[in-house]
Amino acid sequence: MLEGAALVRAAADGAGDWESLRTLVRSCTACPLWQGRTQAVFADGNAPADVMFVGEAPGFHEDQQGIPFVGVSGQLLTRLLAEAGIERSRVVIANVLKCRPPANRDPLPDEIATCKGWLRRQVHLVDPAVICTLGNFATRWALGPSVSITRVRGQRFEVSGVTVVPAFHPSAALRSGPNGTQMQALRADIATLAEVVAERARR
Ligand code: URA
Repeated sequence: MLEGAALVRAAADGAGDWESLRTLVRSCTACPLWQGRTQAVFADGNAPADVMFVGEAPGFHEDQQGIPFVGVSGQLLTRLLAEAGIERSRVVIANVLKCRPPANRDPLPDEIATCKGWLRRQVHLVDPAVICTLGNFATRWALGPSVSITRVRGQRFEVSGVTVVPAFHPSAALRSGPNGTQMQALRADIATLAEVVAERARR
């Protein structure tokens, strides 16, 4: 393991503070995705925070508004968090990629490699106790390239003192329908996350 281990306990690595990092990310031109973006999408929430979510990449609405998970996937995530007793305003939400890929295609390996330094610095500043990774791309960022979300979702992984809880991506849950398998699984994953958060709070 694990990319995540290195990420979470990395040295400050020039992270600066949260707002300086936001400014740097918003002016990033390190990969070609900047040419098609309305804006780079830094994060929702402020460092530090006990709980961090990592998704894949901004979609149309995120690119327009500059905030992660504000489209339909985000509305589902916000609702499931509320159902599980987790206030969205108390967590940090970020993505593996900061810029929207054209037509919401999957992130390319080069884009992930170029962008991951930003996420590393974000994790360093947020210093979370728990990270919930949403979908395959975020889960592979945290747990390594050979994992599959369908095999690891809903489990807990200890990575350098941080508990990683992989969950299905909300867009997969939406595709499965309101009572679909992946919707039920995502709900269960968020419930597991809430248990982990409660356990850590009791420590
Ligand atoms: N999907 C993601 O992975 N991230 C977002 O910010 C929105 C949708």
